[in-house]
Amino acid sequence: MKYIINIIRILFLALFLLLFIKGKAMLWFALFAVSLIAAVLFGRVYCGYVCPMNTLMLPTQWLAKKLKIQTKKTPKWLKNGYFAWITLLVSIVIMLVSKKAPGMNLPILPFWMLLAVLVTLRYTPAVFHNLICPFGALQRTFGRFAILSERVNKDTCIGCKLCEGVCPSKAIIVAAEDKKATVNAALCHQCTNCSQVCPTNAIHYKTK
Ligand code: SF4
Ligand code: SF4
Repeated sequence: MKYIINIIRILFLALFLLLFIKGKAMLWFALFAVSLIAAVLFGRVYCGYVCPMNTLMLPTQWLAKKLKIQTKKTPKWLKNGYFAWITLLVSIVIMLVSKKAPGMNLPILPFWMLLAVLVTLRYTPAVFHNLICPFGALQRTFGRFAILSERVNKDTCIGCKLCEGVCPSKAIIVAAEDKKATVNAALCHQCTNCSQVCPTNAIHYKTK
């Protein structure tokens, strides 16, 4: 399963690079727009399987852990959650300006890919996914209504927290009160990391 998911990610990364090299990056934005509708039906599958930033962040996370240069802290100024919306607004303005002035074709997508890698070298992936990424801000807005999503069966959850440890976006949390895990569909990338490690098979992709 893990290998199939990684192959899908690499294929989408290759498609992204191909479109970018051919000067057809707008097609990628069209794909992203469709993915927002898909997020309401299937959850944030774009983030988990399609996003080139996420695909680059995965080996970066592995490297940062190996080099022991990553901190679990989150910069205080990011915690209020507004920054991702500001980055979205700035990105839209830059794209509109680029369109009006053809000589000024600013590479907005490669910029975000580079930033995703640099941030992940220092901070856990959730910092970029949840607090910085402008695309993530939109995916969160649509993903919270996901009809299908990874969800926890409270009867079989034993509160071991293994799922929390492998979640890239802090989408699954074990409550202190009842020691049961819950998936926040707004943050969940549907990556299946949690269901793969759950010892009681309590997590399934399903409707509410
Ligand atoms: S890994 Fe499974 S059993 Fe453990 S806390 Fe998560 S959902 Fe519950
Ligand atoms: S680990 Fe589970 S809860 Fe976290 S993003 Fe992946 S599928 Fe969603």
